[in-house]
Amino acid sequence: MSEPLLQVRGLEKYFPIKKGVMRLTRGHVRAVDGVSFDVREGETFGLVGESGCGKSTTGRSILRLIEPTGGQIIFNGKDVRKLGRSEMRKMRRDMQIVFQDPYASLNPRYTVRQILEEPMIIHGLYGGSAERKKKVADLLETVGLSGSRMNRYPHEFSGGQRQRIGIARALAVNPRLIIADEPVSALDVSVQSQVLNLLDDLQKEFGIAYVFIAHDLSVVKHISDRIGVMYLGKIVELAPADGLYSKPLHPYTQALLSAVPVPDPEFKRERIILQGDLPSPSKPPTGCHFHPRCKDCMEICKTTAPEWKEVEPDRFVACHLYN
Ligand code: SF4
Repeated sequence: MSEPLLQVRGLEKYFPIKKGVMRLTRGHVRAVDGVSFDVREGETFGLVGESGCGKSTTGRSILRLIEPTGGQIIFNGKDVRKLGRSEMRKMRRDMQIVFQDPYASLNPRYTVRQILEEPMIIHGLYGGSAERKKKVADLLETVGLSGSRMNRYPHEFSGGQRQRIGIARALAVNPRLIIADEPVSALDVSVQSQVLNLLDDLQKEFGIAYVFIAHDLSVVKHISDRIGVMYLGKIVELAPADGLYSKPLHPYTQALLSAVPVPDPEFKRERIILQGDLPSPSKPPTGCHFHPRCKDCMEICKTTAPEWKEVEPDRFVACHLYN
């Protein structure tokens, strides 16, 4: 098998907790705490977990929109953390992001044409103004909007249309990877599937790989090839999508999946209610971080962190039930 397009190894992002008049560092919030996964060319890797588990921080750290504290990010054979400013700018052409909130992520003072031309100008693409204008019209058509609307402003579009503009902006530089950070969470359910279908179509047409971040397993089900489930800064289970849905191994994955509605009552899962809230990543529980909420907790779980283990080909889990 060829090298993965993206390799994330032991990624860490710690935020300092500063206290007192001197603003001395009194501890750290371990938002991302040793996350590892690969993304292959043209595939979708889903990253799922409750809000606050570190999935968005993982996405932004990969692009160095926030600087990671530790670990390695290899993209297309290059060590991203070692790149200088100008090399990083070139690399960003291949790695784009689509944000959750289509209202906040588009500059309200720019027309759609200006929004889509901006990345082309930054990366010196498509010669002059006429060529860029044609590309803007093409991009809008690609995402299902009329090119004739390029001189309108973001507020003249609906939420779903704005997210399409956000996707068109990412496509403007022909990326090989898009980090889609909860791209449909802010949209009405009726519009969500349209945007998901669009992302799927674009992947088929252009072979783009996605890291698709979501808090809801039902959203990533159809779009993902493989899925990583995150809890308190760590991936606790990683598996091909089919296997994860048909036989979730980690008790946290089982609880998340039990909340996903199924159309056929015969396949309905018993609902597992998670006890309590997500603990603070500044004071994670001892042993397995999930133990205070786990229905299968054993004595060893309270003191000893489980190993990350490949239990079947391409299936990994961190849980004492499988150690
Ligand atoms: Fe539950 Fe123990 Fe597995 Fe953690 S290691 S998920 S507490 S069974």
